[in-house]
Amino acid sequence: MRIYMGLFAQQHRGQESAGITVTDGEMLTSHVGMGLVSEVFSPEILAGLRGKGGIGHNRYSTTGSSRCCNAQPLLEEYIGGQVAVAHNGNLINANVLRNHYESRGHIFHTSTDTEVIIHLLAAHHLSKSDPLVEALQHLQGAYSLLFLFNDRIEAARDPWGWRPLVLGKTEEGYDCVASETVALDVIGARFVREVEPGEVVTINDQGVQTRRFADHQRPAHCIFEHIYFANPSSKLFGQTVQLVRERLGEKMAAESPVDADYVIPMPDSGRSAAMGYARASGIELREGIVPNRYVGRTFIQPTQRQRDSAVQLKLNAVSEIIAGKRIVVVDDSIVRGTTTRGKMVQLRKAGAKEIHLRISCPPIRHACYFGIDFPDPSKLIATDRTVDQIRQYLGVDSLHYLSLEGMLSCVNRPADHYCTACFNGDYRIEVERPVTKLGLERHQLRIFN
Ligand code: SF4
Repeated sequence: MRIYMGLFAQQHRGQESAGITVTDGEMLTSHVGMGLVSEVFSPEILAGLRGKGGIGHNRYSTTGSSRCCNAQPLLEEYIGGQVAVAHNGNLINANVLRNHYESRGHIFHTSTDTEVIIHLLAAHHLSKSDPLVEALQHLQGAYSLLFLFNDRIEAARDPWGWRPLVLGKTEEGYDCVASETVALDVIGARFVREVEPGEVVTINDQGVQTRRFADHQRPAHCIFEHIYFANPSSKLFGQTVQLVRERLGEKMAAESPVDADYVIPMPDSGRSAAMGYARASGIELREGIVPNRYVGRTFIQPTQRQRDSAVQLKLNAVSEIIAGKRIVVVDDSIVRGTTTRGKMVQLRKAGAKEIHLRISCPPIRHACYFGIDFPDPSKLIATDRTVDQIRQYLGVDSLHYLSLEGMLSCVNRPADHYCTACFNGDYRIEVERPVTKLGLERHQLRIFN
């Protein structure tokens, strides 16, 4: 039940499929399915998932299509026994590793990058030192990983710490690990510490043990987690997300003041920054756009068509508040631009007199290869357009993106401890031949999910 609750609390991190694998000490039992946590698990299914430990996963696809065989945890049998793997991130050398194993006759069941990790584990099974550590040393890219074996959980985080991973402890003394602290909160566990970049943590009957598999690197924490992805109540990379977002809003108000009647937050991820903007500018905050809470996050839907229809369903402008008013609309980011344009059209139809759009991060001009789904720069609106061209496309009176320096002034670790590659192209590690999102699909399959 705790794993289920933890997944529920982290539903914002992935809405395509969900899964839980448990161990009773001798055998792993798993259930995965397409859809939200509430759709995948019935009380009967949960009753069958009893054990002394387990792991769970919500999938947001960045490599491999959205289909059931790619749902995680991936459960496999190999020469070392059973193992289940849950992965947050992107392996930039997955195609190289997969080609290596396929050319030697290995069979893959999925089109995710994660599956190569199991082949690496099998390949290093007979290692006299530490098979898991040896397997991890072959991975390049972003990975926060959970492994479930019959007798233990292993949690590993890449040497740059792109994605979050935290350790907690329940009141009853159970050790747990999650992407975000919000998952610890809902099960009544206290935050102990982050899993360090380059560290493997073992949780078993003896408690928690730690070892390193890589030297310390300059961290590359994904700053987009703070801007958009993480839950506002989570403590991430040492700071509470809500407070960072409010500071981003305050900074925007300082960088781009405007005369307006109301500050209007774009639900839901623009809300915290809008609060900061309103507080710093003295302009009244009004909820001029009302969300339908039963529609999921639009940006993390796997296709553009799904994103567009979700945004139509999700947001409704309140014309009684907006009509005839000069409004400052605060949103967290613009990725492809189409959904933002749809929102601006709604506001014009509701009678907005002036729309001043404020974005709490710089223009996204470069691909992400480290766990956020914008791998193709040609799909990003800011790649080859000026800010004024984007303003015209969106049909707004003014548009301001928070500066890179302004954004970095709102977080409390040194600026060079964050990844900002999608904004400035400064990739922490070289990406020679990136895996495209569907780059590991070997065949055109007819899927009946
Ligand atoms: S490129 Fe952008 S989205 Fe990707 S890890 Fe870096 S900061 Fe995050």
